[in-house]
Amino acid sequence: MSEAVRPLKDASAALIDELCAIVGEKHVLIDAADMAGYLIDWTRQFSGDAIAVVRPSRTDEVSRIVKLCGSAGVCIVPQGGNTGLAGGGIPSSGTPSIVLSLSRMNTIRHFDEAGRTVVAEAGVVLEALQAYVDERELFFPLMFGAKGSCSIGGTLATNAGGSNVVRYGNTRELCLGLEAVLPDGSVFNGLTGLRKDNTGYDLKDLLIGSEGTLGIITAAVFRLFPKPLTRVTAFLSMTSVDAAVQALNRIQDRTGQSVEAFEYVPAPVLGALEKAFPELRSPLEGPVETGVLLEVGSSRVSDAKADDTGSTHLATELLLVLEEMMESGDLLDAAIATSEQQRSDLWRMRESVLEAILEYGASYHFDISLPLANISWFLQEMDEMAAALGFETLTIGHLGDGNLHYALVCSDRERWQTLALGRAKEKAFELLRRLNGSFSAEHGIGQSKLDVMRALKEPAQLDAMRAIKRALDPEGIMNPGRLVPLAE
Ligand SMILES: Cc1cc2nc3c(=O)[nH]c(=O)nc-3n(C[C@H](O)[C@H](O)[C@H](O)COP(=O)(O)OP(=O)(O)OC[C@H]3O[C@@H](n4cnc5c(N)ncnc54)[C@H](O)[C@@H]3O)c2cc1C
Repeated sequence: MSEAVRPLKDASAALIDELCAIVGEKHVLIDAADMAGYLIDWTRQFSGDAIAVVRPSRTDEVSRIVKLCGSAGVCIVPQGGNTGLAGGGIPSSGTPSIVLSLSRMNTIRHFDEAGRTVVAEAGVVLEALQAYVDERELFFPLMFGAKGSCSIGGTLATNAGGSNVVRYGNTRELCLGLEAVLPDGSVFNGLTGLRKDNTGYDLKDLLIGSEGTLGIITAAVFRLFPKPLTRVTAFLSMTSVDAAVQALNRIQDRTGQSVEAFEYVPAPVLGALEKAFPELRSPLEGPVETGVLLEVGSSRVSDAKADDTGSTHLATELLLVLEEMMESGDLLDAAIATSEQQRSDLWRMRESVLEAILEYGASYHFDISLPLANISWFLQEMDEMAAALGFETLTIGHLGDGNLHYALVCSDRERWQTLALGRAKEKAFELLRRLNGSFSAEHGIGQSKLDVMRALKEPAQLDAMRAIKRALDPEGIMNPGRLVPLAE
């Protein structure tokens, strides 16, 4: 063994002893087999190395760990449920790092009935928070496929969106305050839950969406909503994407802004779903070109009231507007869920799309957003360009908020290697720029989109982000090489 290696090994051993002294030996994982699940991401695209995986259970432990790593020059990669899709929670190989798992910080600290807020620690799983709130007859809206394993800290760090942003906004809009450990180990306590607090720069908003690069979120206070008393879930076959976009506002106007989800599920995606999961099919008899999964919900007693036929006011209003859309030729067919089972089948279909695409073949996924008026323009140009370059495409989207998950795919994994992916990406980003879109809508930048960030983010914004990063994390120990590309 060379002399150069020995001091580093000694330093690591000393660090591990000190980490064990903070959280207990059981919660410092150093064996490769124990760490394996923390060192590869959900997509299996990104993997890395770490000195240890450390699992604190309290904020003061996180603070001590950050101070310790800072003085040892060891980087910290926060991790929640490890369901992120941009590789942001996985350390780089060769950079001395620990993974700081928040999974043991899973206490719901406080419920405020009058203020309709809840304070939860970062490691609370999204679905567990929803169940807790549901038991108290309120509602916490965030909704997407990973809800059973992602942490609320992770949703904050990525400013996650999902299916009901059209009604409730991204995670940022749901959060009233944070507790976080900053890169120098100091604790920022912003858990007051105040709705008005104009006392300067908003650290909460800096930390939300910072993907672990500015500090570790340890707890948050969230707004809660009245529980919908009635919901109607339907699968629509529209004549075109433009007709679907117009339908959104018609339904919003008719139902008092009650659209909770408006999800685009076109024919090729229905095909891929059926191939991967034969039991998951469109509920409509005939072929569907432009499918939309629609959900409306209301917490108003008058909307939940049933008439003589048993139909609620909300359902009646929805049926009326659907009939009008059929008469005007925009809507071809519709199936309305008549039981909770049918509703959950429709949602299972939507939430299985990502897995179906990954099974279909090799793929590259754009996570983009556009003004609603430009969506069909983008799809038309992009589909033509992709076909000309030999790609198939599988596109889904949270159409109600303008977010498309556009995947270039090829069922033949060998042929995929011969396709001009770089050219397709270039063309797609150029088209997005022309149509005022964003190259990263909700999954974040992590490590997967760093090159795009460097190339396309406005230089003035990139410089400001780098200055903020330097000011808060001068030693660069918080999740280095993620989100903010280095200056050239
Ligand atoms: C099947 C599936 C469907 C999905 N659908 C959607 C969707 O519709 N909409 C959407 O927005 N996202 C979606 N996602 C991705 C989504 O971003 C994540 O599921 C979730 O937000 C990440 O939470 P996590 O706890 O797993 O975070 P992780 O994957 O552990 O981490 C994600 C990032 O946050 C950082 N981080 C994690 N915890 C903290 C913390 N406490 N403090 C500071 N930084 C932290 C990590 O360092 C990393 O950069 C989906 C993922 C899957 C697998």
